[in-house]
Amino acid sequence: MPDVKVLCEVNNCTYWGNGNKCTADAIYVVSHTGEKAENSQETDCKTFKPSDL
Ligand code: SF4
Repeated sequence: MPDVKVLCEVNNCTYWGNGNKCTADAIYVVSHTGEKAENSQETDCKTFKPSDL
């Protein structure tokens, strides 16, 4: 297990691991609206891939 750099609570993501550890090699975060984000609520992890499909 590599050093965990990203903690994440989205436990229905393919990359989610026990202890809220993201197991992706890298993640891509974008602005929710496509405009300039003003706070963390306006950002999204684009690497998210649902694990329950
Ligand atoms: S890829 Fe994004 S949504 Fe999925 S576990 Fe990692 S940080 Fe969370």
